[in-house]
Amino acid sequence: NTTILLFTRDLRVRDNPALEAACAGGQVVPLFVLDEAILSGPHAPPNRVRFLLDALGALRDSLRALGGDLAVRRGDPAREVARLAAETGARALALADDRSAYARRRLAALGDLGLEVSAHPGITIAPPGGLTPATGDHYRVFTPFWRAWTAARHRPVAGTPGTIRMPPGVDPGPLPRLAELTSGAPSPDLATGGEPAGRRRMAAWLDEAAADYDRARDDLAADRTSRLSPYLKFGCVSPLELANATPEGFRRQLAWRDFHHQVAAAFPDLPRRDYRPRGGRRWNRDEGALAAWREGMTGVPIVDAGMRQLRREGFMHNRARMITASFLTRNLGIDWRSGLRHFDEWLADGDVADNAGNWQWVAGTGNDTRPNRVLSPLRQAARFDRDGEYVRTYVPELADIAPSHVHRPWALPAAARRTLDYPPPIVDLEWPQ
Ligand code: FAD
Repeated sequence: NTTILLFTRDLRVRDNPALEAACAGGQVVPLFVLDEAILSGPHAPPNRVRFLLDALGALRDSLRALGGDLAVRRGDPAREVARLAAETGARALALADDRSAYARRRLAALGDLGLEVSAHPGITIAPPGGLTPATGDHYRVFTPFWRAWTAARHRPVAGTPGTIRMPPGVDPGPLPRLAELTSGAPSPDLATGGEPAGRRRMAAWLDEAAADYDRARDDLAADRTSRLSPYLKFGCVSPLELANATPEGFRRQLAWRDFHHQVAAAFPDLPRRDYRPRGGRRWNRDEGALAAWREGMTGVPIVDAGMRQLRREGFMHNRARMITASFLTRNLGIDWRSGLRHFDEWLADGDVADNAGNWQWVAGTGNDTRPNRVLSPLRQAARFDRDGEYVRTYVPELADIAPSHVHRPWALPAAARRTLDYPPPIVDLEWPQ
C-alpha cells in the first residue's frame, strides 16, 4: 500500500497529522510541487520564495534522517501527483486540509485522479467550519468565536514517525535555486525558514519571553513578540503545539489566526471586497502619497520606521502594522487594497486570510466594521515607542535625535531641521488631532 503525501503549507515532520496517517498506511512518497500557477502570480514574492526554499531544504533533510526523502517537482500539482502515482503504483493521497479558495480548487482537481484522497487537520488549530455559532454557519466577529474556541476540545498532537518507508527508485529531483524561481532579491535581514529554525525560535521565545507576552507585546522597541508568523504561515511549527505550551494571551492571538482563516473560507472574496454599505466614503487616489508610504518616506517617523522594517526584514511588528495601515487608510484616505498588496509583496508571513482580515479590520471595511477605529500616529508613538528606540533602529536619519523630538522632527529648531536628510510630513498631524 503506497500513499503519496502531498506537502503544501505544512512543512514539518512534528505534529503533522497527514504525515502520521500516510506513514500508518505503509509506504509513503513525500512530495512537494512548486506550483507554477502560484509561482507565476502575485503571491510568490522573493521573501516568501526564499523562506519556502529554506523550509523545503530542511524538510528534505529531516525526511532523509528518517530514511525517506522529499520528491520535489515543478508544475501543476494534480498532473505531478498523477505522474508520481503512475510511477510508484500509489493508490492513496494524503494532504493537509486547507479551505482557502485556491486550495479547494486544487483539492477538486486532485479528487478527479482516481486516488483515495484524505485531508487532515493541522494548518489551523480549529479547522475552518469546525466551530459554528448557534445561528448561521460561521462567526463574523471575534469575541464569540474566541469563547467557542477556548471551550472546544482540539485534536491531540500527532506522533512523529520513527521511520519513513519509501518505495525504491523515486527520483527526489533537484531543489531549485532562488534565481530560478524569482528575479527579485529578498530582504537583507529575512529570517531563515524551516522547521529546525522555527523550533529554535519557538524554544528560545518560550524560554525568554513568553511569560512576559501580555505586558510587552505592544512595546515596539522591546521586540518581544514571538516572530513565529512566517513559520506558522509555512507550517514549519505547529500552531497546536504552540497553543499547548503558551499562556492565554498568546493563545488568543493564535485564535485570531484561526478566526481569519474561517472568515476567509466563508467569504472567498474577502481580499477584494469592501463590505461597507454603499454611500460610504470614497478613497483618495494619490500615487505620490502611496509611493511615500511604501518607501517609508512619509516624514512621519513611526510610520516610516514600520515601512522600512518591512523592507529590511520581510517582517513588521504587529503594532507598527496597525499604525501604518491606519495611517494609509485614515490619514491618507487611500484604499486598503493598495496597502494589502504592498504587505503581500514583502511579508514573509504574508497570507491571504490574515492579511486581508487584518486590513479589513483596521480599515473598518470588513464584517466587523467599526468606522471609528482610528489610531493617532503621534499618540501611538508616545505610548508604544516612548524613547524613540524603534524609530532610531529603522530610520537612521533620525538616529541622533533626542527622545523629545524623534517623533516630531518638524518641531526641531529650523537650523537643526535644515541639516536633517529627512522629508517633512506629507500630512499635518498636529491639527486636527
Ligand atoms: P505574536 O504576537 O508572537 O503572535 C503569535 C502568532 O499569532 C503570530 O505569529 C500569528 O500567527 C498569530 N497572530 C497574531 N496576531 C494576529 C492577527 N491580528 N491576525 C492573525 N494572526 C495573528 N499576520 C500574518 O500571519 N500574515 C499576514 O499577512 C498579516 N498581515 C497583517 C496585516 C495588517 C494590516 C495587520 C494589522 C496585521 C497583520 N498580521 C498578519 C497579523 C500580525 O500582525 C502578525 O501575525 C504578527 O505581527 C506576527 O508577529 P509575531 O509572530 O511576532 O506575533
